[in-house]
Amino acid sequence: MTHPGQLLKQNNLYAGKELGQNFLSNPGTARMIVEKTGISKDTRVLEIGSGLGALTIPIAKIVTRVTAVEKDSRLIPLLQQELDNQNLQNVDIINKDVLKIDLAELSKDKKLVVIGNLPYNISSQILFKLVEERNSIEKAFLMFQKELAKRIIAPPGGRDYSRLSAVVQYAADISFVATIGPASFFPKPEVDSTILKFNFFETRAFNQEQEKVLFNVIKAAFSKRRKSLKNSMTGGEFDYTKQFVVQVLELAGIDDQRRAETLTVDEFKSLALAVWETL
Ligand code: SAM
Repeated sequence: MTHPGQLLKQNNLYAGKELGQNFLSNPGTARMIVEKTGISKDTRVLEIGSGLGALTIPIAKIVTRVTAVEKDSRLIPLLQQELDNQNLQNVDIINKDVLKIDLAELSKDKKLVVIGNLPYNISSQILFKLVEERNSIEKAFLMFQKELAKRIIAPPGGRDYSRLSAVVQYAADISFVATIGPASFFPKPEVDSTILKFNFFETRAFNQEQEKVLFNVIKAAFSKRRKSLKNSMTGGEFDYTKQFVVQVLELAGIDDQRRAETLTVDEFKSLALAVWETL
């Protein structure tokens, strides 16, 4: 691969902050990341934010076909050129916002393995989308800013535990893969990056309607995280009355003075079931 700094300069381009463009500049690191995913010839890979191809190239050298989604149209000819330089003709480039991609469409034949060095400004949104559409996904290997990764895997009881942690931990088994320092990127980010692996659970505890209730309950509970559940879950965009919230908390056996950040995923599930049965 050509160094991203050199490639951008040659083409009078710059790395856009608004698109979270910190490109991997160390081919050894990129190869190491791809090796850790354990993909093989038949794996159906979707890469999110392919940029200038740092991960796309080593992926395309292993699998039969890759779908690479990249929003920035300026980068597409450069990515294509990089692939041509390596004689790689097995990459389907989609120039689109990944948030608008229909994963079911891409996974008609086989579930996807999603790989991505994610744009940091929409990492959470992308992860929520992957959870929503996890029927189409076998597993995912995603790189985040270290602080966000910490929040995703945080256990209940601390400041890092958030709506995102509860939703993702409900849907997937998450494990740590690697930490990558700023020196492997261009431009260098200010913080370390962490790669996490997501194994989405095959069996579902809840049907789609119940899951909607669960995600709404988690969102409501964390909407005013400093407040007790009795107060955080009422008002705003949620139409639960205080009386209703007290009733469902009691039904779920949860003290209404507790705050969202103290609830385990199982407790959120009990609470969602109580809401589901009471509504
Ligand atoms: N994969 C490349 C690498 O590792 O060098 C680039 C990673 S860079 C952190 C994130 C990439 O995602 C950028 O190329 C950026 O243009 C792209 N991107 C940003 N927002 C996007 C979106 N909504 N949909 C698809 N790609 C997006």
